[in-house]
Amino acid sequence: MFASWTKRGENSGPAVNWINWRDMRFDLITIFPEFFAGPLSYGILRRARETGLVEVNVQDLRVFTRDRHRTVDDRPFGGGEGMVLKPEPLFEAVESLLDRDVGDASKPGVADPKTAIVLMSAAGKLFRQETARRYARLERIIFICGRYEGVDERVAEHLATDEISIGDFVLSGGELPAMMIVDAVTRLLPGALGNEASSQNESFSAAADDLADTSHHSRVTSHVLLDFPHYTRPAEYRGWSVPEILIGGNHAEVAKWRRAAAVEKTRRNRPDLV
Ligand code: SAH
Repeated sequence: MFASWTKRGENSGPAVNWINWRDMRFDLITIFPEFFAGPLSYGILRRARETGLVEVNVQDLRVFTRDRHRTVDDRPFGGGEGMVLKPEPLFEAVESLLDRDVGDASKPGVADPKTAIVLMSAAGKLFRQETARRYARLERIIFICGRYEGVDERVAEHLATDEISIGDFVLSGGELPAMMIVDAVTRLLPGALGNEASSQNESFSAAADDLADTSHHSRVTSHVLLDFPHYTRPAEYRGWSVPEILIGGNHAEVAKWRRAAAVEKTRRNRPDLV
């Protein structure tokens, strides 16, 4: 079965500002193609798909099996628990999506620099906001979602351009991790948030990096700041008041307060970043 939630043009019309136009295609290779229907149908992701900013294609791995039982996994060489995703369907799925042999896609120079083939793996390199920024400059990302005990290592060695973990914990499949990356990358694409400014002052944002980078003489400067605390009405709730400065309307004071509050919060919640 082939499921596809797409596509540029569905709803796109003159409303799409050409300056904001960016074309990004995500392909998700999975044994559970129905998995993504929910996450792709809400909020920023939904709108990005409807306006054609991103195209999301879900590819059922079983289409690329050749036996009657549509087998995608097998027992591990060397023994041990669990099953391992076989290499053939994965290589063939990626090759069919790219419309060409991958050769050794992991080798620099072989791969198309605008396309990433990302293997989701608890044993991968850590995904960070800077990874999201790098991916947002690509034109296409193909995700390979593992299951069971994982994926035949030749996929990491010769098919994937990147082997990526979303954190130091083990999940039961690569679908949620891939979806998180799709989300993180999509909201960085120009036009995705509606308000251009809003992805520039967030936790881990480039702006925060830049702020830190302007003072390279200082060894203690943090390179990333978390977001500052946000408040909205009511100004007093159950006796807890919003910081006075935020209500005063002095923009310089507000900016100063936010900066200090962001530093304080980063120290408190993520001392490792400071
Ligand atoms: N045996 C593996 C875990 C397999 S979990 C190990 O110990 O590392 C099954 C699949 O879930 C993996 O192939 C991967 O695709 C996905 N997965 C699990 N945890 C993940 C994480 N932190 N980041 C990205 N993918 C993960």
